[in-house]
Amino acid sequence: MFNIILFGPPGSGKGTQAKTIEEKYDLHHISTGDLFRYELNNNTELGKKIKHIMEAGELVPDEITIGMLKNKILSFENPKGFLLDGFPRNINQAKELDRLLEELGEEVNVLISLDVPEEEIVKRILNRGKSSGRSDDNDENVIRGRYKVYKEQTLPVFEYYQNKSKARTVNGVGGIDEISNRILCAVEEHTKK
Ligand code: ADP
Repeated sequence: MFNIILFGPPGSGKGTQAKTIEEKYDLHHISTGDLFRYELNNNTELGKKIKHIMEAGELVPDEITIGMLKNKILSFENPKGFLLDGFPRNINQAKELDRLLEELGEEVNVLISLDVPEEEIVKRILNRGKSSGRSDDNDENVIRGRYKVYKEQTLPVFEYYQNKSKARTVNGVGGIDEISNRILCAVEEHTKK
């Protein structure tokens, strides 16, 4: 398998870029945010439980998130690999992911981090909020809170994979195609190593 983590702050363009990468490498794109939003929009039991957490821009508890991610990964027959977007979002999730992949005789191959400054993030998400229908995209305080959660809880995941020589940073500001090219170059460079 070939497994990529697409990493970066909220609003850094992970969802947009995921489409190009999953096609290029024939991967299954798994976005935990999208999975949670599906539950929310369909008002499922899980959706009701996590609604207030997501609206506040906080992280859904690990036991829910990790369980859901594991089920999703194990639901594919002979996958070529995964493109993870929005997961892992803290060190505990990273360790659980590594453990699961190890059990499958696999590993995370590379983490690509999209680098976008906070002010650009706030601008982008407020803009997305005009049409996304996401309540967590409309309130600047919630957006800055999500950025804070990213810095405090998620950024250590970058270091965790950097220590394993698996992390690469790409400039996430520019045109969509330009950024796609940067990502593909970083992945190729990493795999050539
Ligand atoms: P963004 O990257 O724009 O914040 P996402 O769609 O990735 O959007 O996530 C939206 C929300 O879903 C998060 O603010 C959080 O509440 C929840 N969420 C998504 N992924 C995770 C995760 N791995 N762990 C905990 N909560 C998560």
